[in-house]
Amino acid sequence: MVREQIAARGITNLRVLEAMGQVPRHEFVPAELRSRAYEDGPLPIGHGQTISQPYIVAFMTEALDPKPTDRVLEIGTGSGYQAAVLSGLVAEVCSIELVEPLARRAETDLRRLGFTHVKVRCGDGHLGWPEAAPFDAIIVTCAPEEVPPALVAQLKAGGRMIIPVGSQWGAQELVLLQRTPAGLEKNAVLPVRFVPMVKGR
Ligand code: SAH
Repeated sequence: MVREQIAARGITNLRVLEAMGQVPRHEFVPAELRSRAYEDGPLPIGHGQTISQPYIVAFMTEALDPKPTDRVLEIGTGSGYQAAVLSGLVAEVCSIELVEPLARRAETDLRRLGFTHVKVRCGDGHLGWPEAAPFDAIIVTCAPEEVPPALVAQLKAGGRMIIPVGSQWGAQELVLLQRTPAGLEKNAVLPVRFVPMVKGR
């Protein structure tokens, strides 16, 4: 998977390639789909949600330029796979999932597999995680129509955010934001299709 789907498509960060090679993706997909865990695409994980394509996980992880001392916020825990990949690269991952059974299952799986420095919370990611802010990096794995202001506010100076932005039906772009001394820098880096970021209930 790492060689043919990820390195071959231009992901070069060696720490990211190594982290992708170390996380057992089959542990994060439903039992009946295990044989397809290393395929080149997203897979359903229940509750109408999906685990992202391996290449997209690697691309977003590389875009964050993760450092061993970083604290990272993830919005959209889903299966916990992206959080597991990140946890091998940074000091701490705080991950928020709106759907409670998914949050609970991801937390259980991450603990069982020994990914200890990931904290999972059930809640609405639009609000971020104020008590744990500010973060060195933020990764959003569901698509809002606009970048939520609370997330920008919880990003450290110099910090990076990677987020799919756009409508549920129309075009979405993966946007890389960086908080620089001159202000917020924004670059669209890849057209994508993510599940929508749902407003909290
Ligand atoms: N990162 C995940 C993929 C997640 S799919 C993985 O590695 O498996 C996107 C997830 O975002 C879904 O689980 C969905 O329930 C969640 N989500 C949607 N809207 C949300 C919101 N407002 N706050 C937090 N999570 C949300």
